[in-house]
Amino acid sequence: MTDFADRDWQLETLAIRTGIDRTQFGEHSEAMFLTSSFVFDSAAQAAARFGGSEPGNIYARFTNPTVTAFQDRLAVLEGAEFCVATASGMAAITSCIMGLLSAGDHIVASKSLFGSTVQLFNTILSRFGIETSYVDLADTEAWERAIKPNTRLLFVETPSNPLTELGDIAALSAIAHRHGALLAVDNCFCTPALQRPLTLGADIVIHSATKYLDGQGRVLGGAVLGSKQLLEPVFGFLRTAGPTLSAFNAWVILKGLETLKLRMEAHSRNALELAGWLEQQPNVSRVFYPGLPSHPQYALALRQQRFGGGIVTFEVAGGREAAWCVVDSTRLMSITANLGDVKTTITHPASTTHGRITPEARTAAGITEGMLRIAVGLESVEDLKRDLKAGLAQ
Ligand SMILES: *Cc1c(COP(=O)(O)O)cnc(C)c1O
Repeated sequence: MTDFADRDWQLETLAIRTGIDRTQFGEHSEAMFLTSSFVFDSAAQAAARFGGSEPGNIYARFTNPTVTAFQDRLAVLEGAEFCVATASGMAAITSCIMGLLSAGDHIVASKSLFGSTVQLFNTILSRFGIETSYVDLADTEAWERAIKPNTRLLFVETPSNPLTELGDIAALSAIAHRHGALLAVDNCFCTPALQRPLTLGADIVIHSATKYLDGQGRVLGGAVLGSKQLLEPVFGFLRTAGPTLSAFNAWVILKGLETLKLRMEAHSRNALELAGWLEQQPNVSRVFYPGLPSHPQYALALRQQRFGGGIVTFEVAGGREAAWCVVDSTRLMSITANLGDVKTTITHPASTTHGRITPEARTAAGITEGMLRIAVGLESVEDLKRDLKAGLAQ
């Protein structure tokens, strides 16, 4: 494998050119290696591979050239030394924690995490003696107050879903390091095209590759990135427990990465235009978007992110009835909670993604009945405005 990270190339070049060396056929597009195992030249070579004295592939639960190509490409984009690819975003979070934490350890996490992450922390990790405390994402001092002597990990998602609140990655990494803990950032919403947490001091980056890295809603995938030494036990967990990324999915996401920068900039341009337009609409009481000067953390957004990203949340006057009316009046947008796709999606968080938590907890999280979240895709923004206009007029 060529060491592309040494080359003086820009992100868009690395996203296209990092990968597998050509096979004997001289193919231009990266080859996909659909094989579960690999053969050896001799008994001695088999022994050397298994013993670790000779590098190389053994079995696809451990490594596969297509998966390795995806890992190398995402690693250079995030500025990481090492990447462990996983079967999904949740497999990435699980592998990270199973690799690095033990019974008796403590996690500090933001209240506004992805729903399945909260489920993992509260219902599964708790059974294995790993406890989690939750704090307000934007309240940096609250993070420090929540730290205990056994805190090993600070876990953050920024911007948050659906309120687009931001966590200050540089400040949180300083707090983590002051207390001998690690900072992990779920960079799903921004991707390295907009935000590179490792350069801001984070120790670990987590991805659901299912979202923007694939970018077209085709496959599940995930990744954990950081230094090789730190992530060795995470790779060890994957190799033993088996939540490995398939070669097919790795190939799809590998090709998705080639257009990542273009797509993220286009998602952000469309989202900024739509968010600004929504602010002008009479029945819209509030718009949440980090790229708007009205966002309470606009200064931090400018410092930490290249653009605002593709997620826009807004509140319509008239509660659930009015919000559902907007959803049901759309003809173009897909009514689904998924995000990170070229197709625009619209969802009512209070009755879908955040429908299972109690009304009190929802109110505490700032999620109201009139709130809608749009994951802005790459259709014409004029068509998206027209699609919302009818519902907003009612
Ligand atoms: C979707 C998502 C995940 C989980 O990823 P899967 O690929 O669905 O397992 C984790 N974090 C965030 C922020 C997500 O949006």
